[in-house]
Amino acid sequence: MQGNNEAHAITAVEQDILNRLPEPKHFPPMPAVKPNKCAWTKDEDGIYTAACHRALKEVNSFIFTSGGPVENRFTFCPYCGRPIKTRAA
Ligand SMILES: [Zn+2]
Repeated sequence: MQGNNEAHAITAVEQDILNRLPEPKHFPPMPAVKPNKCAWTKDEDGIYTAACHRALKEVNSFIFTSGGPVENRFTFCPYCGRPIKTRAA
């Protein structure tokens, strides 16, 4: 059998399907690029708050029994997956 990869004329059924397809959507522009690190701010009680959670207006604090993210080898934020950057409040 010869190759059957020639373009064929669109049948009425195919044209009907094409006519039913929705118009391509125009997506809104991408939001501003997020900083590529998640800042964890430490308060005076030693409680860390992740920037990604502040952005979500959720208060989710993290407390280490000993040391901080660096000492506990927290490389990535467990909430947003970005690398952690620690800073003082
Ligand atoms: Zn985060």
